[in-house]
Amino acid sequence: MFFTEPRVTLLARPTFTEPAHLAVNWLGDSTDGERLAEFAGRLCYMSQRNPANRSTRDYLENIKKQGHGSVLEHANYSLLLEGVSRSLTHELVRHRAGFAYSQLSQRYVDESDAHFVVPPAIIGEDALEEAWREQMENALASYVALVEQLMERYGWVADKVHRRKMAREAARGVLPNSTETKIVVTGNARAWRTMLELRSSEAAELEIRRAAIAVLRLLQREAPAFFADFEIYQAEDRREAARIGYHKV
Ligand SMILES: Cc1cc2nc3c(=O)[nH]c(=O)nc-3n(C[C@H](O)[C@H](O)[C@H](O)COP(=O)(O)OP(=O)(O)OC[C@H]3O[C@@H](n4cnc5c(N)ncnc54)[C@H](O)[C@@H]3O)c2cc1C
Repeated sequence: MFFTEPRVTLLARPTFTEPAHLAVNWLGDSTDGERLAEFAGRLCYMSQRNPANRSTRDYLENIKKQGHGSVLEHANYSLLLEGVSRSLTHELVRHRAGFAYSQLSQRYVDESDAHFVVPPAIIGEDALEEAWREQMENALASYVALVEQLMERYGWVADKVHRRKMAREAARGVLPNSTETKIVVTGNARAWRTMLELRSSEAAELEIRRAAIAVLRLLQREAPAFFADFEIYQAEDRREAARIGYHKV
């Protein structure tokens, strides 16, 4: 199978349980993650009475404007990314602060029926796409042949699971960067903002930029107070990009 776009699924969001002895005078629509961040922010000044009569979303807008981003770190969102390439995840995992990752292992998992992600720059250009697909198919055939040969070569290894791992970890060397992978990514709202600012910009590589826009759309629906200041626009290169309203809080 050839992927031409990522599949992004929300796996987990915060659940907020308000302590009865520190109840907040909430105003306006909000989600648990947003209320958790407001609760944390209000605790600092014991302003649960909400003297300025701010809705949760106005309160968090002000937090972003003032750069008090640490309260955003309480709200974590876990996403499953599929239909993304190994080169995308190589770039993604460079984002360290506030993130956790779990990715499909090419040492354990058989890649004989691996899928591939078509690089966005190639999509729609038939000749290029055909040549690229041929390369992928050849690489996959080399992988399958190598695994077979290595299983034979290491026939003396009694533990079959270990033998398979030895074969796969060596054979994966011929799989290209475009090989599809799956990754679970958990990040707090502040960390997601930093990552999305860098990876949805026009300077970012096209595939991770496309994935960042998909993640941004999902998180904007999920928790607008954390992500509504990002503006998605059509860039000069005729692809979507996004710019942040409040830089790096
Ligand atoms: C367009 C683009 C091109 C790139 N090209 C390359 C490239 O050619 N080669 C390459 O190697 N990388 C490249 N990168 C990756 C880049 O160098 C960063 O590794 C990546 O963007 C993650 O950024 P970060 O370290 O700020 O993020 P995070 O790890 O998420 O950190 C967020 C912030 O936390 C703070 N922080 C985190 N860890 C530490 C620490 N250990 N010490 C002090 N402060 C810390 C910093 O303020 C940091 O900005 C590129 C990135 C982009 C967006």
